[in-house]
Formats: sequence, C-alpha cells, structure tokens
Amino acid sequence: MTALTPETRVMPRIEPPAERLSLLGLTRDAMREALINIGTPERQAKMRTSQLWSWIYQKGAEDFGVMTNLAKDFRAELEAHFTVARPEITTLQVSQDGTRKYLLKIAGGHEVEAVYIPDENRGTLCISSQVGCTLNCSFCHTGTQKLVRNLSAGEIVAQVMVARDDLDEWPEDGTPREGRRRITNVVLMGMGEPLYNFENVRDAMHIVMDNEGISISRRRITLSTSGVVPEILRAGEEIGCLLAISFHATTDAVRDTLVPINKKWNIEKLLETLRAYPRLSNSERITFEYVMLKDVNDSDDDARRLVRLISGIPAKINLIPFNPWPGSPYVRSSWGRIEAFAEIVNEAGYASPVRTPRGEDIMAACGQLKSASEKQRKSARKGATA
Ligand code: SAH
Ligand code: SF4
Repeated sequence: MTALTPETRVMPRIEPPAERLSLLGLTRDAMREALINIGTPERQAKMRTSQLWSWIYQKGAEDFGVMTNLAKDFRAELEAHFTVARPEITTLQVSQDGTRKYLLKIAGGHEVEAVYIPDENRGTLCISSQVGCTLNCSFCHTGTQKLVRNLSAGEIVAQVMVARDDLDEWPEDGTPREGRRRITNVVLMGMGEPLYNFENVRDAMHIVMDNEGISISRRRITLSTSGVVPEILRAGEEIGCLLAISFHATTDAVRDTLVPINKKWNIEKLLETLRAYPRLSNSERITFEYVMLKDVNDSDDDARRLVRLISGIPAKINLIPFNPWPGSPYVRSSWGRIEAFAEIVNEAGYASPVRTPRGEDIMAACGQLKSASEKQRKSARKGATA
C-alpha cells in the first residue's frame, strides 16, 4: 500500500438554501410542533416525526425527495418550509496518519472544525461546541481567539453527520452494523467550552445517543470541560455521558495561570463536585487531562500531588504532550519527563496513557484547532495581493 500523503481539498462553494427552518438538532417535540405549524394534522404529527427522524438520523437523507414512504405532496410541503441540508465542508484535510479534519462553514459565515481520528479498534470524532472560546487558557490556541458564538444543536449534530457522509457510513436499511462502524466514539474536545453551551450540547448529544437516531452509546461519548463547576452534575444527570476534566495543574497558583476559570472555581471545589458525579465507578471513570508543559507542571512533585488530590476518585489520567502553535508561550515536556511522570501516576494505581499527537501535519492536534484555517486565509490573502 502506498503511504497517504497530506492532502487538502478545497470544496466548491454552494450557497446555502434560502431561509428555511433546519430540522437538524430539533428535539422530537420541537420537530412535531414544527410539523403541526405547517398544517400537519395533530394525530399524524408523531408518526411523521418518527419517519423523518429515521430518514435524517438513521439513513442520512440530505433532502426530502428521497423519503419515499412519505406522500409526494407532503414532501413538497416539507421542502417548501424546511431543510435537512448540512453545513458546507469548505476544506477537508487528510493527514499522513489518516486523521481527517473538516472545516465547516456555518450560518453567519463562521467556521468550525471537527476531526476524525481513526485507530486500530475505534474511530473517534472530535467535535466543537462553540466558535472560538471565551475562556483564555494560556496554552490553548482556541482560547486566543475572540468568541464568535455558541453553536446550535443542529450545528453540533451536523458535525457527526458530515463526518458520516464523508466516511460513507449511513447504513442503507438504517440499521447500524455493530463492529463495522467507522465513528465509534464522539468526544466534545474541539473548539469551545461545552458547558457554556449546555442546552444545545445536551440536545445534540441526545440525538447522537438516540437508539432510533445515530445510536452511539452514552458510554462512548466524552464531554471535556475546563471545570464549569455549577454545570458538571447537571451534565451527568441530563446528558449522562462520560466526563473529562482539563485539570493540568496541581496547585491553585499554577492552575490559575493555565486555566483561569480556576480563579472562580478552584481545585478543591472542582474535586468536591467530581466526587458527586453520577454513576462514578471503575467502569465509568473520570478522565483527568493533563497537558505536559516543560518546567511548568511536569515535576515528580506534581505527579505525586496529582495522585494525592484525586485519591478516591475512579480516574484515568490522560497525559497530553503540549502541541505548540505559532507564538505559543510554552514548550512540550521531554519524552523522558513525560514517562517519569506517567510512571509515578501508574504506580499509584491509575492508568496514565500518553495521548499521541494525531494529525499534527494538518494542525488537527489538541489545542491547535482553527489556527491552520486562519493561517491559510492569511496566506491566501497575501497570495491574492501579491
Ligand atoms: N474547552 C474544553 C474542551 C476543548 S479542549 C476543555 O478545555 O476541556 C480539549 C483538550 O485539549 C483540553 O484538555 C485542553 O486543555 C487541551 N489542549 C488545549 N490546548 C492544547 C495544546 N496546545 N496542547 C495540548 N492540549 C491542549
Ligand atoms: Fe477554551 Fe478548552 Fe481552550 Fe480553555 S482549553 S481556552 S476552555 S477550548
């Protein structure tokens, strides 16, 4: 087999359809109501919702024309008022390691990124919850960009749908083929703080988890938060997915500088809340994400403090080698240091996998999102004026 070479495809621009309500991301109740509003008799609305739901989320229909079990004039009505079109993929980049990065254009001309990371036994789709982020973690490139806006539930679920389109994984009969899925896991680890966009993230994840929808188990969905303490238990109750915490430091002084939300809800408050997370157990452990920054948070003392702090919490510690971006103020810890840190954590009884940076050649690794597209646009502008 020939090795994959990095590849960038710039897609042709297709203007989105005129102002029609997108059905993507609506709850069942909201979809039912929308159907009644266009004149569907109330006694039929529930069944029509189920039919539409199946076409949209089990079969991946991109327009109403293919929905052959619906009457022709009803389809025309739907077409006149609604859309199930996806956001446009403006750029698709494929890394040498098989990672695929989608740059999607959403309403208002904003752009958002999702990344597909294939592995031996799984395929993980990393999705975004906001355009940019209001928090300013000092090691994260997304945090240096101005927040533009929250994504709608439809824009969140559409990231999964676009990736399924690209990976050609809509089963023709609508029944997911277990063991043959390409997207097995979803992580909310792209751009944005998911708990600052709670309702939309929740509604989108309900669709992703729905057995009659995209049907990915709640235990294969991980929401990563920087530590929005008042929303954490609510996430456990109302979404029920697994939780990852961007921990990154073992003293408040250091965490204040890395993850400034710590000034509002410090390590003690965060840990107290985590201990109460619903269904916390060895099979549903919390992931502590820990970015390895040379001489900032990577000493043996840090490793020992970390295991003391989290003692009693069923946890796994995911060590993330820092991914640099243009102008970033930190340096990645050496591999020797990362291994020594991992060893201490491991000896204390916690799994401590080191997250292999994926898709670095296309700026798709953790914390790098958005930068490539901004850079590309800048160089495109330069090219245009030269
Ligand atoms: N806002 C959420 C989710 C998105 S970030 C959060 O902060 O948890 C996903 C993970 O990537 C977080 O753990 C984040 O701290 C980490 N990350 C951000 N920038 C990084 C960088 N430059 N290198 C490595 N990891 C980074
Ligand atoms: Fe926002 Fe997460 Fe980046 Fe912090 S690490 S700036 S919370 S995206």
